[in-house]
Amino acid sequence: MDERALRELELDAVARLYGLVDERREVPAPATPAVVARAGVETFGWDELKEAVRICTACGLCKQRKQAVFGVGNESAAWLFVGEGPGADEDEQGEPFVGQAGKLLDSMLAAIGIQRGREAYIANVVKCRPPGNRQPTPQEAAACAPFLDRQIELIKPKLIVALGKTAATRLLGTEASLASLRGRVHHYRGTPLVVTYHPAYLLRSLPEKAKAWEDLVFARKTLAANA
Ligand code: URA
Repeated sequence: MDERALRELELDAVARLYGLVDERREVPAPATPAVVARAGVETFGWDELKEAVRICTACGLCKQRKQAVFGVGNESAAWLFVGEGPGADEDEQGEPFVGQAGKLLDSMLAAIGIQRGREAYIANVVKCRPPGNRQPTPQEAAACAPFLDRQIELIKPKLIVALGKTAATRLLGTEASLASLRGRVHHYRGTPLVVTYHPAYLLRSLPEKAKAWEDLVFARKTLAANA
């Protein structure tokens, strides 16, 4: 070691001795893949966004997923339907709402003359399956929020339909009951939003189907009024 380097080392040791250098100074943590994947997400185009979701490890749901479920449909659709999170069928197939609840959703959409992939885009609050089909936690919903937010910015839907309490809570920031949120026009960052029951709930509570039908008719009117 040359003399100059030796002197610098000594100076450093003296500075530490007199507390002139904070030895506990935080060294920035190396960026984890999750941080890297989500950095700048608000500027991503579709391809970058899909890749970021595919490799995301921002919350524990990534550990048990078979695959992340990004969303499906017309990327410039007027209608955006937002569900809760993938179930077993969706985790298997990589597409939202492909199980029993999905079949019901498709027939509800058909009843108001719309089709996934044509007039509608379908996405979820969380992109990875919560184990045992439990509700996503608020932390999991928050970890996934930048992805859904960016999807909404890119699609620019004319109307958002929140399917169930998890989607309503996430998009409206309220814990109010689903019943109290139905039948009114809300807004998500300026886009009109209506709330209805989740199709999986309707499968268990058939009498509520008539209310969901009312909600969809209301949604269609709302969209027509804002078109
Ligand atoms: N339930 C949801 O909320 N989303 C899906 O994709 C499937 C079932």
